[in-house]
Amino acid sequence: MGKPTGFMEYDKKKVKEKAPLARVKNFEEYTERLSDKDLATQGARCMDCGTPFCHMGIEIRGFAAGCPINNYIPEWNDLVYQGQWKEALERLMMTNNFPEFTGRVCPAPCEGSCTLGINEPSVAIKSIEQSIIDKGFEMGWVQPRIPQKRTDKRVAVIGSGPAGLAAADELNQLGHQVTVYERDDRAGGLLMYGIPNMKLDKKIVERRINLLQAEGIQFVLNTAVGKDITADELKAQYDAVVLATGATKARELRMEGSDARGVVPAMNYLHDVTKSLLDSNFEDERALNVKGKNVIVIGGGDTGADCVATAVRQGCKSVHQFGKHPALPAVRQPEQPWPSDPQVYKLDYAYAEADAKFGGDPREYCIQTKKIVADERGRVKELHTIQMNKIVNDEGYAYFEEIPGTEKVWPADYVFVAIGFQGAESAVAEQFGVKMLNNRVHASRLDYTTNVQGVFAAGDARRGPSLIVWAIKEGREVATQVANYLAETHAIAQ
Ligand SMILES: Cc1cc2nc3c(=O)[nH]c(=O)nc-3n(C[C@H](O)[C@H](O)[C@H](O)COP(=O)(O)OP(=O)(O)OC[C@H]3O[C@@H](n4cnc5c(N)ncnc54)[C@H](O)[C@@H]3O)c2cc1C
Ligand code: SF4
Repeated sequence: MGKPTGFMEYDKKKVKEKAPLARVKNFEEYTERLSDKDLATQGARCMDCGTPFCHMGIEIRGFAAGCPINNYIPEWNDLVYQGQWKEALERLMMTNNFPEFTGRVCPAPCEGSCTLGINEPSVAIKSIEQSIIDKGFEMGWVQPRIPQKRTDKRVAVIGSGPAGLAAADELNQLGHQVTVYERDDRAGGLLMYGIPNMKLDKKIVERRINLLQAEGIQFVLNTAVGKDITADELKAQYDAVVLATGATKARELRMEGSDARGVVPAMNYLHDVTKSLLDSNFEDERALNVKGKNVIVIGGGDTGADCVATAVRQGCKSVHQFGKHPALPAVRQPEQPWPSDPQVYKLDYAYAEADAKFGGDPREYCIQTKKIVADERGRVKELHTIQMNKIVNDEGYAYFEEIPGTEKVWPADYVFVAIGFQGAESAVAEQFGVKMLNNRVHASRLDYTTNVQGVFAAGDARRGPSLIVWAIKEGREVATQVANYLAETHAIAQ
C-alpha cells in the first residue's frame, strides 16, 4: 500500500469527460485521460484491503461482485502510485488480454465492490486500468509476443468478438495455430460494430487486431461459417473448434404498426453508422441519418442509450427513449448489499448529451407503446403510449398496470427498436450438431464442452447477452479447456 492515508486525503477523480455540447459535434471518444499526477493520487486512494473484494469476480444473487477476470487491482493501484507504470502493465496483462477495451467501456463491477465504496466514492479502478494500457502502447511497451515454438494443432475460432479474440490470443500464445473466422468485413464483433466509436474508438480495436495478427493469428473475414464454409469442412481441417458467435438475435417488436417504414432495429442503425464512419467518414451516405428528425428509441437499456448518443450526433430534432421500468434508485438498496455491484441511477454519457442539447433527460420511464401509426405512404408518423405502474405482489412477483388517462401521442420520423436480444443464432451450432438450450449454445459452464467432441462454446453465445469482461473471462477459460483437450487427443468428432 503506497499511502496509508491516501483515501482520506484525496477525492475520487474519473477520466475527464469532454463538455457534452462540444463532444456531440463529432464521433471521437468522449473521454480524456487524467494526468499522471492525478492518476498517482487516485492509486494512492486504494487501501490494499486484506481481502480485496474488488478482484474476487463472483455473482451474488445474479449481480456481479468484483472483477470477473480477477484483475490484480490493489497491486497495480500501488504501482501507479509509485510511478512504476511498466510493472503495473505487466501485472495487468497477466489477467486481462484487452484492458484497452474494459478500461473504456466496462461497467466496472470492481468499483461497486471496493471497500472504500461503503462510505466514500470508490477507487477510480477503471480509469487507472485504461491509463496503464494506454501508456503501455504510447511508450512502446506493448509489442507482438510471437510464440517461440509452434505445435501442430490447429484451432478454428468462429466469431471475432472479445470472447473469440481472448480464446485465440491464449491458444496462440501456447503455440497452437489459430484461425479466427468472422462473417463481417472487420474483426472485433460488438467491439467493432455494436459499441459506437465515441465510447470505444475503432482505431483502438484495430490496433489490437493488428497486434494479434502480428503474433500469428490468422483472420478470415467476410466468411460466414455455415454458409461460406461448412461445419464439416472445419471439422476436417481443425483439431478443435470454438463457437464464439455472440447472442445478437434481436427480439422483435410485435405491435400494431411495427412494420411501418422508419421502424428500424437498433443494431442495424449502430452497425451502419460505424461502418459508414470507418469506410468514408460518412461520405458514402450509406448509413441512416436522422438529421432534423424526431427520433424515438423503444427499449431502456444500453443499446438504446447508444442510439440516443448517435442520433444526437447526427443532429436529430428530438430524441426520447422509452423504458418499461421505473428509474433506478439513487442509492444502493438493501437487496443489493455491498460487495455486490449496485444498480443505481446514473446520467450516462448519452443522457448527459441529450440533456445538454434539448434541456431534459430523454428517458421516459414506465411507458408502454400501444401502437405505431403510419402515414398514407406507410411511413411512421406517431407513437401512442400509456403510462404504467409497476406493482410487486406479496410473493415478490412484479407486474405492470396501465394508468387510465395517461395516454399520449408522440410525433416520430424514426423508431429504433432496442428491446434486447433473444439470444444466439442457432444455425451454426446446429450444423456442427451442437445442441441449443434456451436460445444459447449449450455448453458446460465448467469446461465449455458441447455435446460434440472437440467443439467448445464461449462468450455471449454460451451465456446469453452480457458484457465484454465476461466474454474475455470465458475466452480465457475456454482456451485452457481446449489446450487440455488438445494435449489429450487429436481427434475431432466427424
Ligand atoms: C450496442 C451495444 C453496446 C454495448 N456496450 C457495452 C459496453 O459498453 N460495455 C460492455 O462491457 N459490454 C457492452 N455490450 C455487450 C458486449 O459487446 C458483448 O457482451 C460482447 O461483445 C460479447 O462478446 P462475444 O465475443 O461473446 O460476442 P460478439 O461481440 O457478439 O461477437 C460475435 C462475433 O461472431 C460473429 N459471427 C456470428 N456468427 C458467425 C458465423 N456464422 N460465422 C462467422 N462469424 C460469425 C459475429 O459477426 C460477431 O462479430 C454492448 C452490446 C451492444 C449490442
Ligand atoms: S475489467 Fe471491469 S471489473 Fe475488471 S478491473 Fe477493469 S473495469 Fe473493473
